[in-house]
Amino acid sequence: LRRPLVLANWKMNMAPNEVHPYLEKVLPEIEKDTKADVAIAAQDLYLADMVRQVADSRLMVAAENAHWTDEGAYTGETSPKALAMLGVSYVLIGHFERRKLFNETDERVNEKTKAALKNGLKPIVDLDEDLSAYANVKKESVVLKQLALALKGLSETDMKHVAIAYEPTWAIGSGEAASAEQAEKSAALIRQSLANLYSRDLADNTRILYGGSVTTTNASDFLSQEDIDGILVGKAALDPDQFLKLVDLA
Ligand code: 13P
Repeated sequence: LRRPLVLANWKMNMAPNEVHPYLEKVLPEIEKDTKADVAIAAQDLYLADMVRQVADSRLMVAAENAHWTDEGAYTGETSPKALAMLGVSYVLIGHFERRKLFNETDERVNEKTKAALKNGLKPIVDLDEDLSAYANVKKESVVLKQLALALKGLSETDMKHVAIAYEPTWAIGSGEAASAEQAEKSAALIRQSLANLYSRDLADNTRILYGGSVTTTNASDFLSQEDIDGILVGKAALDPDQFLKLVDLA
């Protein structure tokens, strides 16, 4: 029903001279494995070269952020229109690090999601959950509120191009992943919420990814959960061999 997505998030890592060899190594292997969609999110300045290098392959390129308007006087920002014109496929919207370190609000996340969709980019809308919400059996307060605000005004047709990423804040970069059972619980809640906001059909067709200290050791636990349709991987994906292993597990 839902095709898994393995999405690497390089964040502000990888030196310019490391990008080409990394892709050269993974591209032939990824062609052999067609079970999952595969994408890499990288710093903006690498994206144009990456798009060129992955052309005619299954590997897709993702941006880590994009602005909420197409163009204008926004020094230092990246236009979603320009990203789409370059051939970038996906864009992360509202990653925890953007929300926390760059003060991105739910409202901005919503605007950025709309701007991405308008330009034909596929947004991966990130929801984060802190420890108190994670520990709470009634998770509605945090994750589902973020979900509703991020998707405000989006039609069911828009939603066909959106994926959701669920990332517990304390699991990001900590080496301490959520348990697969807890992550599944949250993913199931998110899916139920999508059914309430849209329809059962839409909810059943929307991909929900787990992110936060995913490794080659724990990835299968997440990927085997009913409501988890992929993984969003930071640190482990900086190594091409580990990334390939993760793709293989999906
Ligand atoms: P880590 O895999 O390094 O914990 O990062 C998770 C993440 O934030 C992916 O977007």
